[in-house]
Parts: sequence; structure tokens; C-alpha cells
Amino acid sequence: MNKVDHIGVAVHSIDEVLSFYTETLSFECLHIEEVPSENIRVAFIDAGNVKIELLEPLHESSTVAKFIEKRGQGIHHVAFGVNDIEARINELKHKGVRMIQDNPKPGAGGAQVAFLHPKSGHGVLYELCEKKKD
Ligand code: ZN
Repeated sequence: MNKVDHIGVAVHSIDEVLSFYTETLSFECLHIEEVPSENIRVAFIDAGNVKIELLEPLHESSTVAKFIEKRGQGIHHVAFGVNDIEARINELKHKGVRMIQDNPKPGAGGAQVAFLHPKSGHGVLYELCEKKKD
């Protein structure tokens, strides 16, 4: 893993919480986009050495909606930046880690992502995230 790329935070509404990040905490919002594969809308906040990814469910079937229903708003996942995501998935599986996705899927910002099962993460949902190369 190269570094922590971002921290995912589940919220009811990006519009309701955005001013906390941009005005109260004086961070910049980098962009907002929809991720149709997850039925969510995300906002990326630049927090200096790490980004905060606000996750808003667009439909009650979204896993983020189910997360909020069960646990309320709050920290949802931690994402590690990686280079060769398929090799990292294979490496982790080889080391006995259970993955939610055996193959990477498209995430926000054109990245390829895959999640470790929280049982393997000892209660934390970890994401591998490979940025699209420009
Ligand atoms: Zn994420």
C-alpha cells in the first residue's frame, strides 16, 4: 500500500454537511460526482495529506444507505492508494485476506477500487484504490 488516499464518511446529504468542511474547517471541495455503480453521490474534500470522501446514498438500496440505517452517519471506510490493484488483490488473497470484490470495479474519479471484507480488516472496511493515470 502506498499511503492512505482518502477516508470515506457516510452522510445523509452532502448539501447539508458541505459547509462544515468548506467553511467551518476551511477545506476545499475538489469535486462532486455520482457513482452509478454504487448508487451514491460523492464529494472529495482536500484535507492536505489525505482526502475526505463524503458518501451520500441516492437510493435506499445503496450499501451506504444500509450503513447509515444501521450505524448512523460517520466513518465508513479507509482507502489505500495502490499501483497495480489486480496484483495487490491477488497478493492479499494469497495472504488469506477475504475480499468483497475479487476484481476491481470502477469507483469515483475513474479510479479502480476493491474492498477488503471487514472481517479480514478486523472491523474496518478498507478499500484499495488505483487512480487512473493521466
Ligand atoms: Zn472510497
